[in-house]
Amino acid sequence: MNQEEYDQFQLDTLAIRTGHTRTHEGEHGEPIFLTSSFVYKNAQEAADKFQGREKGNIYSRFTNPTVGMFEKRLAALDGGERAVATGSGMGAILAIMMAYLKAGDHVVCSRDIFGSIVGLFDRYITKFGVEVTYVDLTDLIQWKSAVRENTKLFFLESPSNPLAMIGDISAVAEIAHQNNSLLVVDNTFCTPVLQQPIKFGADLVVYSATKYIDGQGRALGGAVVGNHDLLEEIFGVVRTLGPSMSPFNAWVFLKGLETLKLRMKAHCEGAQEVANWLEKHEKVERVYYSGLESHPGHELAKVQQSGFGGIVSFEVKGGKDAAWKVIDSTQFISITGNLGDVKSTITHPATTTHGKLSKEAQQAAGISDGLIRLSVGLEDIHDIIRDLSRGLDLI
Ligand SMILES: *Cc1c(COP(=O)(O)O)cnc(C)c1O
Repeated sequence: MNQEEYDQFQLDTLAIRTGHTRTHEGEHGEPIFLTSSFVYKNAQEAADKFQGREKGNIYSRFTNPTVGMFEKRLAALDGGERAVATGSGMGAILAIMMAYLKAGDHVVCSRDIFGSIVGLFDRYITKFGVEVTYVDLTDLIQWKSAVRENTKLFFLESPSNPLAMIGDISAVAEIAHQNNSLLVVDNTFCTPVLQQPIKFGADLVVYSATKYIDGQGRALGGAVVGNHDLLEEIFGVVRTLGPSMSPFNAWVFLKGLETLKLRMKAHCEGAQEVANWLEKHEKVERVYYSGLESHPGHELAKVQQSGFGGIVSFEVKGGKDAAWKVIDSTQFISITGNLGDVKSTITHPATTTHGKLSKEAQQAAGISDGLIRLSVGLEDIHDIIRDLSRGLDLI
């Protein structure tokens, strides 16, 4: 099928059919091209490919057929023209920074982003003379007033982690574009199944494929999605600097995309059920899930997302001791910082993912000592609820 034929298909079909061009072997499943380099028929072909006169594979740091299949499939799902895959989500974000920032530039970024991104900005990118201003994801006045003459990039993650606050992508895109800046949206939590940021004006969408796209906790990977011109620059950075995706991992993610919609639907249903149950629980102070009407982002999430996602955070009464009791009393829910897995996972943000923040910074970010983050997996929902009850009944 060519691109025009693909354009008529729905997401479910694209997730399964895009990207793979059958080889002469007639394989049905997508092949894994575990090869670091590619060979040429003769010296002329090698010269033509190296000098860009002829298209084709040269070396897997640049392009690889299996990685290319994943890129095409992800771009199709996201409504983007092109994707570039990377060795991790952080590799994807680094590639964006290297491609689009230089000394003297300024970035406006939502405060509640994935912890390592803050590290990337504060410890490394600033070393090269780039300044970053952090703003409240939901406060458009802060986004607007942070803009300077040298602002080049806006970065947001929605829903935020761990409180599932929702940022208004269209509104921030408008502010960015009025100032000739790019808007980058980290869409790791929603995946293209629940949210397509390009539709709302994002210029670049970034993923940690390590989470829901794999969905079974096996491989590290990332990607950037956007239009051809913007992605050509990202491709240049990745092929030269080297945070490229392994073909084996690309194959894992490629297969992950085939079931992503089904899995996301099940994650959303499970999370909604757990959130509803927690909200009524007497030992629970507050539940953060945008699928609840009590959540401040509920209405906006309904506009931007086709589901509320699989992450539920909740605050138990009794602070850290109570939270740890709930976590330690679980029988099968995994105590790990990872998320987006078929296995449910549980974390205490104040002492792990957000443990490096000062108490004041934690309070400002709404990370209380009693807060627990749960990534609802695909185990039986009654078993998950029972596993949480074990600790909640003790506090
Ligand atoms: C995990 C994560 C990242 C980083 O991705 P890695 O694959 O771990 O490098 C970036 N953003 C979000 C929202 C994440 O959850």
